[in-house]
Amino acid sequence: MTDCIFCKIIAGEIPSDRVHEDDLVVVFRDINPKARVHLLIVPRQHIASLEELGPEHDGLIGHMMRLLPKLAKQEGLETGFRTIINTGKGGGQEVFHLHVHLLGGEKLTGF
Ligand code: C5P
Repeated sequence: MTDCIFCKIIAGEIPSDRVHEDDLVVVFRDINPKARVHLLIVPRQHIASLEELGPEHDGLIGHMMRLLPKLAKQEGLETGFRTIINTGKGGGQEVFHLHVHLLGGEKLTGF
């Protein structure tokens, strides 16, 4: 999508601090981190939110979930990590391109 900020980051049109990329996803550091480690796992394919997922995305979602502990280990998060997926305006979603937040590296409070 031409007006999607994450599509522009994936295309390299907007700079980002990438920590991982493969055929299915790009992972970069959140520009406004809520914890010492705050990564965003973003599919290359433009999918607006969880609400747009179909069975054809099962492989992608499995890949994203299995990647999370590998990224956490890579970031030195030995004691664990938190994942968040905001969905829709009511769920606090600001960027309508599906992404998983990975947070850790300090004591996390609340949800
Ligand atoms: O889940 P939600 O849509 O609210 O999260 C979007 C996230 O994208 C925010 O944490 C924001 O800091 C991040 N962001 C970013 N780089 C941008 C624009 C937004 O890391 N250029």
